[in-house]
Parts: sequence; C-alpha cells; structure tokens
Amino acid sequence: MPDLSKKDYVVIVQCHTVKERCSGYVCEKSFHERAGGFADYPKDRPMRMIFMTCGGCCGRALHRKLANLVKKIGAKEQIDRSRIMVQLSSCITKDNYHGPACPHLGYLKELIGKLKLDFGCDTVISQKAEQRRAEGKYRRA
Ligand code: SF4
Ligand code: SF4
Repeated sequence: MPDLSKKDYVVIVQCHTVKERCSGYVCEKSFHERAGGFADYPKDRPMRMIFMTCGGCCGRALHRKLANLVKKIGAKEQIDRSRIMVQLSSCITKDNYHGPACPHLGYLKELIGKLKLDFGCDTVISQKAEQRRAEGKYRRA
C-alpha cells in the first residue's frame, strides 16, 4: 500500500460505459467521507480530486489521459507523480449491479504501472452489494 499521507492529488478512474448513466456522485461522496475504498486516506488534510474514465474498452486511452495529467500538473504546479494516487472505481473492480468487474482490469493496472503511478482499488462500497457478494449473487473480486 502506498504512503497515502504523501498524496495530494487523487484521480478516480471510472468505467467509461457505466459512466454513460452515472453522475459519479456516489464515488465523490465516498471520497468526501473517506469511506469505502478511501477509508485509509488522511481525513485531516485537503486533497484535490479529478474524475476521468478509462476512455472505453479496452481502456488504452487511460494511459494517454493520465500521461497528459502528469505532464500538465508537473509543468503548471510542480506536482510530481509521486504525489498522485489513482483510484479505480468499484464499477471497474467489483462485480455489482452494473455487471461483473472489468474484463480488462489487469490491463488497466498495467497501463497505470507503466506511468509509475500508485493506484488503489474500489471507491464506494455498497452494503447491499456486499450482502449480495456474501450470498454468492455477485462474485467476490
Ligand atoms: S475497459 Fe473496463 S472499465 Fe473501461 S469501459 Fe471497458 S469494461 Fe469499462
Ligand atoms: S462506482 Fe458507482 S458512482 Fe462510482 S462511477 Fe462507478 S457506478 Fe458511478
């Protein structure tokens, strides 16, 4: 697990397909409350956050979107990539209402790794979905 106390900038990556019908509010709420996949993030210091989608299957656009962010934020604000944390949303990482976990999850992780960015999995953790995972209705990731 990366040292989250050294992170200033969070990139929430969402499934492009799911995002066609999702505002992303529940991810934002989870980040704001430092809940779910954000439970280990520091609660007492402000962190900036940006949303982006994978760009659509197979997710290859994520590399150039993140590369663009790293380049711009480094040039304009001298924020180094070591201060950035990428968080893959639960609609990518988990079997849930929207469907099974992303079939390209490993590929997405590889793309992020190529940019030497730290990443974590999950954003919002729904109690109902967790119950369905416990009942075997949704697969455990
Ligand atoms: S690559 Fe995965 S996360 Fe991206 S649109 Fe396809 S299923 Fe969704
Ligand atoms: S995890 Fe939920 S709220 Fe976040 S982008 Fe996916 S569907 Fe939307």
